[in-house]
Amino acid sequence: MDQAISNAAPEAVEGGQSEAGPAPRRRAVGVDVGGVMVGGGAPVVVQSMTNTDTADVEATVRQVAALARAGSEIVRITVDRPESAAAVPHIREKLEKRGIRVPLVGDFHYIGHRLLADHPACAEALEKYRINPGNVGFKDKKDKQFGAIVELAARHGKAVRIGVNWGSLDQELLTHLMDENAGAQKPKSAAAILRETIIRSALLSAARAEEIGLGRDRIILSAKVSQVQDLIAVYRDLARRCDYALHLGLTEAGMGSKGIVASAAALSVLLQEGIGDTIRISLTPEPGGDRSLEVKVAQEILQTMGFRTFLPVVAACPGCGRTTSTVFQELAKSIEAHIGERMPAWREQYPGVEKLKVAVMGCIVNGPGESKHADIGISLPGTGEIPTAPVYVDGVKAGTLRGPNLAVEFQKLVEDYIEKRFGRAGAGSDAAAPAESAPAA
Ligand code: SF4
Repeated sequence: MDQAISNAAPEAVEGGQSEAGPAPRRRAVGVDVGGVMVGGGAPVVVQSMTNTDTADVEATVRQVAALARAGSEIVRITVDRPESAAAVPHIREKLEKRGIRVPLVGDFHYIGHRLLADHPACAEALEKYRINPGNVGFKDKKDKQFGAIVELAARHGKAVRIGVNWGSLDQELLTHLMDENAGAQKPKSAAAILRETIIRSALLSAARAEEIGLGRDRIILSAKVSQVQDLIAVYRDLARRCDYALHLGLTEAGMGSKGIVASAAALSVLLQEGIGDTIRISLTPEPGGDRSLEVKVAQEILQTMGFRTFLPVVAACPGCGRTTSTVFQELAKSIEAHIGERMPAWREQYPGVEKLKVAVMGCIVNGPGESKHADIGISLPGTGEIPTAPVYVDGVKAGTLRGPNLAVEFQKLVEDYIEKRFGRAGAGSDAAAPAESAPAA
């Protein structure tokens, strides 16, 4: 098996400081998932999963469409019973009618081999099959059923994700490795054997899939656990021992800020080391919450780390005792909301607009400095400061806003800037002229 890893530490530069930036990307075999390349040097792909009953075609179409619109480049759906398998081609068809061509992945457990064989239209409509080696069947049925899914994938020209999850680990393999360890001269810890079982399960299954006839360019691996340090250790090892494309994700990350922080912590370390070709953030949504949040978090991790650009960035200071009103929080929020609403149209109209950086700062302490680093920024007056708000465009003071319509006026300046810099006439220009509509200082 090729050892194609480069996790070298960044080189030291003069003065003993490290060069900023990630380690070189691990080279992984590229896998084409319905036109979306995973690995092979392609940008890290964002994916997500629905939580609708797949047999409910309308609800699933709505949620897949929402996830795709939010930026999910691949969407996984549960295929757990004949009704779900029968619904898949209808879901695909309805999505196409809406102009949504996002690749669909089927998540199979226990009876996937039967569902795919009995529903060839489902097997055809999906672009990738997810198999969990711990949930594919028991004893002598395990290899047979795993083999049957792999054969179907090869026959239909589909990719497979061999997705090991520590919550449903192959118990026979775990027992075997535990027994082996018990007889070793220097036994390892139970945690180390658990991690080894996860990795071994993924690698043995991938080798078996190749023996059956599935190409390496059709295999993606994942090895999910729910603890950050374990995940990092497992993926570092897995990445070192193979060159399959890797799907990263912290399983059962949890709700709200806990889930977001844990996922960001784990994935950022691995991505910084060049590990990972596609990511999914497994957030538990609030009851009635927006499933698309997991897509937003995945995009923000990649954008914050500097790997991809999805949306303009609004930098805002946290506020402190120097701001006694909520004007700047409201302005930052309204600018962010405005950008979110306008992005679908801007993407078409203004190529490259996702690189825009806007700053909304609360007072003179860091306001002008931060605003100058943004493409367009505003520094609002803090407590006791003159009630004016200087606006900076491309690092130069371009005018000052004052009065009650400041938010609307600044929004207009942002629009003008985008038109000048990213519109057809100004496309590619990094030095747009200062906003003329800004009142003079
Ligand atoms: S820029 Fe001003 S208001 Fe914002 S955190 Fe810094 S000191 Fe406080």
